[in-house]
Amino acid sequence: MVKITPSGSITEAVKILRQSRFTTAFTGAGISVESGIPPFRGKDGIWNNYDPKVLDIDFFIENPARSWVIIKELFYNFYHSAQPNAAHRVLARMEKEGKLGRVITQNIDNLHQEAGNKMVSEFHGNLKKLKCLSCDREYNAMKISLEELPPTCRQCGDILKPDFVFFGESIPSSALMESYEAAGISDVFLIIGTTGEVMPANQFPPMAKANGATIIEINPEPSLYTNTTTDLFLQGKATEIMKKIEAGLFSPSLDDN
Ligand code: NAD
Repeated sequence: MVKITPSGSITEAVKILRQSRFTTAFTGAGISVESGIPPFRGKDGIWNNYDPKVLDIDFFIENPARSWVIIKELFYNFYHSAQPNAAHRVLARMEKEGKLGRVITQNIDNLHQEAGNKMVSEFHGNLKKLKCLSCDREYNAMKISLEELPPTCRQCGDILKPDFVFFGESIPSSALMESYEAAGISDVFLIIGTTGEVMPANQFPPMAKANGATIIEINPEPSLYTNTTTDLFLQGKATEIMKKIEAGLFSPSLDDN
């Protein structure tokens, strides 16, 4: 059942989205949970069972093999088979039909692009690429054997690192610039499946709100945004809510007559 707080409804969300001239989707690990990828935090979160230090850049450089064993288990054993779900697909349709200007994602799973979104800012990079720590040569992660860890560069022999942002690394400048721009021009920020705990990505919804955007949030649980930043909270799973939004957004409404 869909519970809606603090006010509003899917009908209201659809109305706001229809009127928006520029909508940004701001997504987190929650949108990919129904594709079979566990989030970091919460009930079934990865950090309940693993130490986040394996994703600390200094630890990785000192202990590449130890980090890689966990990284492989967390990110490469099943990410190969994860497919975009209905929530990713609705965002792709929204972009195609002129209802979505940008996706800012904290995810590294490439599922927005696989669903068809083109305007994607990857705040934390992408796991489909590996990069050499010394010579910067890039490799398609899907074509590199992870039988022996750590994987090494064919050119110079140094360690390969997943090209996503580790703790202690900086955010890709293109994603930062695009996110600032989106937070400046958006009429609507649609937050899907994030706790809002990860800095500096978490600053963009409040920034967009300060610039006049309406904040719609989808999450089965309240997040740090729900009682601080969100204007319309749609409580439920991403696929369930986004399918309802799709039905409302792409069906003729009374307003169209
Ligand atoms: P998080 O792990 O901190 O929190 C996940 C959020 O998703 C929670 O608020 C939870 O209530 C919500 N959620 C759970 N199931 C959901 C569903 N079916 N529909 C909608 N929401 C649901 O995630 P975060 O805030 O994105 O921060 C974690 C960081 O971890 C990100 O920066 C990201 O880089 C990384 N991460 C990425 C992936 C991925 O690429 N899929 C997976 C795990 C972690």
